[in-house]
Amino acid sequence: MGISRRRFLTSVGKAGGYGALYTTMMGMGLLAAPRAYAGPPKLPAGGGAGKSVAILGAGIAGLVSAYELRKAGYAVTVLEARDRPGGRAWSVRGGSTIVQTGRPDQTVDWAEGRNAYFNAGPARIPQWHHAVLGYCQELNVPLEVMVNANRSAKLDFAGQVVTERQAVNDTRGAFTELLAKAVDKGALDQELTGIDKQKLLGYLSAYGDLGKGNAYGGSTRAGFSASPGGYDHPPKGGDPLRMTDMMKARFWGASLIFEEIIDMQATMLQPVGGMDRISYALYEQVKPAVRFGAVVKALRKTSKGVKIDYTDASGPKTLEADFCVCTIPLPVLAKIPSDFAPRVKQAIAAAEYHHGTKVAWESRRFWEQDDFQYGGLGWTDEANELVWYPSGGIGEKTGILVGAYSIGFSGPDAPPKYAALSFEERFAISRRVIDKFHPGHGKELTKPFTVSWMQTPYSEGVAVGWKEEQRATDYAELCKPDGAFYFAGEHMSYINAWQEGAALSAHEAIKLIQARVSAA
Ligand SMILES: Cc1cc2nc3c(=O)[nH]c(=O)nc-3n(C[C@H](O)[C@H](O)[C@H](O)COP(=O)(O)OP(=O)(O)OC[C@H]3O[C@@H](n4cnc5c(N)ncnc54)[C@H](O)[C@@H]3O)c2cc1C
Repeated sequence: MGISRRRFLTSVGKAGGYGALYTTMMGMGLLAAPRAYAGPPKLPAGGGAGKSVAILGAGIAGLVSAYELRKAGYAVTVLEARDRPGGRAWSVRGGSTIVQTGRPDQTVDWAEGRNAYFNAGPARIPQWHHAVLGYCQELNVPLEVMVNANRSAKLDFAGQVVTERQAVNDTRGAFTELLAKAVDKGALDQELTGIDKQKLLGYLSAYGDLGKGNAYGGSTRAGFSASPGGYDHPPKGGDPLRMTDMMKARFWGASLIFEEIIDMQATMLQPVGGMDRISYALYEQVKPAVRFGAVVKALRKTSKGVKIDYTDASGPKTLEADFCVCTIPLPVLAKIPSDFAPRVKQAIAAAEYHHGTKVAWESRRFWEQDDFQYGGLGWTDEANELVWYPSGGIGEKTGILVGAYSIGFSGPDAPPKYAALSFEERFAISRRVIDKFHPGHGKELTKPFTVSWMQTPYSEGVAVGWKEEQRATDYAELCKPDGAFYFAGEHMSYINAWQEGAALSAHEAIKLIQARVSAA
């Protein structure tokens, strides 16, 4: 009898906390499902002639909408509050200013360099995100491999620091030993024939690197206590972690199943030089249509379509159009006066967004030069949750090390706690954890900067967190147009917190607009 999905999720939740549960649900396809992608919608050439569209926001959803609608001949205007494209797809470099609500502004003073950037928002693309990768191909955005998992990276749980290689392989060894013993004792005789048992035992032995009597006594897969060398230096494996220690340290949370989640599987990719390269490539295609520094203040319905009130450097302005694609994140949109139907306003207000905070340092690449670790993620149960090593610029002298990515991997408590800390407190935790991973090197970290998405104007959160029951209510409400207003953005997809969701939601919105124009 198979274990039910609910029971499986509950047990993962117990073992690894909320982060593990969330990532497992994604992995099981409950939150996101890959599907065949047939390319962007092919709107009829000239299908939008004589029609105008106001697009609110120049993030991925707004830029994709503008790009595709312009191809079909629509007259498009994009209003963007910031002075750059990309929205959450934001790469911070020397000279950038980081504005955070209620916190001091930070001006980044890192040295320049192609790899001297910090992806404050998105930083990786899985291979099955075909819409985003399709735009990279179409617009010639160079990509490189993003190292999402590294067996040399460290895990720090309950004060115990081990390599990922040890945690992964000792876990596997311990589990296969238990299963092999159960099979051997006949505990699974109902399920397995004699031949199957022998085959399974053979596989388990190889899979877990088991020794005599199906016992796991450690493996060089988990690392060496003495590295192999020349002459009389044979390799020696170390002592395996004990099952009880692994349980205490909660190594079986998100960190150990992370790279099995469909969004996290190798090969992962990143644009060379920063994630914002994709947004800028799209922006280049629609440049004349974009107005930066244009802050939307009110959304009105008219007999013709829509009227958008906004302000820019020269004062209040108005934009009228036949249609509107609104990509403004819902917590921001909820505060803007509008003529939306009461049920639509209710749905917008009901959306909850996640916390997420990052810290980045400029540093000599001691993790490469001294510890021979190239890329990957280090995991901790301290509130900074993650240390993220750069995949770009491997071998260069200095690099930007992401010393915190607190988003809920270890449970729901860390992200709000970490976001509430002062900048100095965030930096201190990050430095301490990095020093645990690379003893003696914490002091080499310089020029830290931090971005907390709940404190970021025009975003106010990392991404939406629709509850399952909201898909049929609030989310479904926003999938319908309200008059001439159409909603797009990562929140209007089943691939939340990904650029892919933003791009695909834009495709849906513009298909609906075209259908309405074609039917008129
Ligand atoms: C920390 C973090 C990590 C992430 N990791 C990944 C990842 O690894 N890979 C990945 O693919 N995705 C990732 N994502 C998700 C990805 O960044 C988003 O899903 C995507 O960028 C959202 O695009 P969007 O167009 O829906 O919204 P946004 O990018 O938020 O665009 C909305 C735009 O509206 C503008 N706006 C807001 N208010 C107003 C106003 N009043 N007037 C005018 N304009 C306004 C904003 O300035 C913004 O430009 C991450 C996000 C974060 C924050």
